Amino acid sequence: MQHKKSTDFSLINPFQEKRYNAYSVYLKDHYGQRVQKVTVDAGFTCPNRDGTVASGGCTYCNNESFNPGYNSAAKTIRQQVAEGIEFLRRRYGTEKYFVYFQPYSNTYASLDRLKRCYEEALSIPGVIGLTIGTRPDCIDEEKLHYLEELAKTHEITIEYGLESFLDDTLRKINRGHDFQSFLDALELTRGRGLKICTHIILGFPWEKKSDWLTEAAVLSELPIDFLKIHQLHIVRNTVMEKQYNEGKLRLLTYKEYLDVIVSFLERLSRRIIIQRLGGVAPPHMLIAPKWGKRYPEMLKSIDDMLEERDTWQGKLYHIPENQGPVSSE
Ligand code: SF4
Repeated sequence: MQHKKSTDFSLINPFQEKRYNAYSVYLKDHYGQRVQKVTVDAGFTCPNRDGTVASGGCTYCNNESFNPGYNSAAKTIRQQVAEGIEFLRRRYGTEKYFVYFQPYSNTYASLDRLKRCYEEALSIPGVIGLTIGTRPDCIDEEKLHYLEELAKTHEITIEYGLESFLDDTLRKINRGHDFQSFLDALELTRGRGLKICTHIILGFPWEKKSDWLTEAAVLSELPIDFLKIHQLHIVRNTVMEKQYNEGKLRLLTYKEYLDVIVSFLERLSRRIIIQRLGGVAPPHMLIAPKWGKRYPEMLKSIDDMLEERDTWQGKLYHIPENQGPVSSE
């Protein structure tokens, strides 16, 4: 008797539009349309700069490298959001927006001040939620409880910068917190109806490809909804600029980065939604690597390599025995 061959779903690309779980698809599924982030600079600082944790900041950090032209803490949040919406509406025809509190640590202030900032942003027509970028050591029960209330009526994402899961790296880049501090923040945040996003950097010269593949497996087991990945690049006026000029840092080539990203995605749980797979600093800020690629070109190269290798996010991901995928909800 002949048995019908059972289908092994791990060998079929489960995604429709991309070979990874793309944020753009998540947004369309949830909101039926494109949703854009409008970045604001609310004038916060960071404990890794003001002397509370350290004073030099992270060795790669220069917040000017990702601030769009309309952002300035000298303007009100309302004004920045209005200018951002005007720009995005003209460019993409969008009608719904998340206000993205991006530069520095956007939960590093009194709860009263945070409430004023967040509620001003949420009161603007078209704004349906917030993304709040911060450090894992800048959150507490009281702030999370407040965000939990906001999340009952809006999509609230809290974005914890991690950068690397290796304590040795966190020390070398002067992050001022360790991996356990990140795990503690996740534990405090999960189960509140908030979305959790994490940001990592791939390409620290002393880390190896095997570290990044392990990192994919480790992150897969954590209650993270969204992930942003960025190549290590060197921007002006940073400690790393000096280290790079002294010949101490070897950066990944474009081809190496594509290989690392594709191999990383293969080992990452399909549950995790990808918000970013690289970044481009303004030309006047960027020291290296000068790949000469715009972000859409990078995405196209990643799509092509996934296709060539006939692979996709999670193809090599294995859920440990007796453990289902973890969600932050
Ligand atoms: S990267 Fe973030 S945590 Fe590090 S110094 Fe810059 S603002 Fe502070």
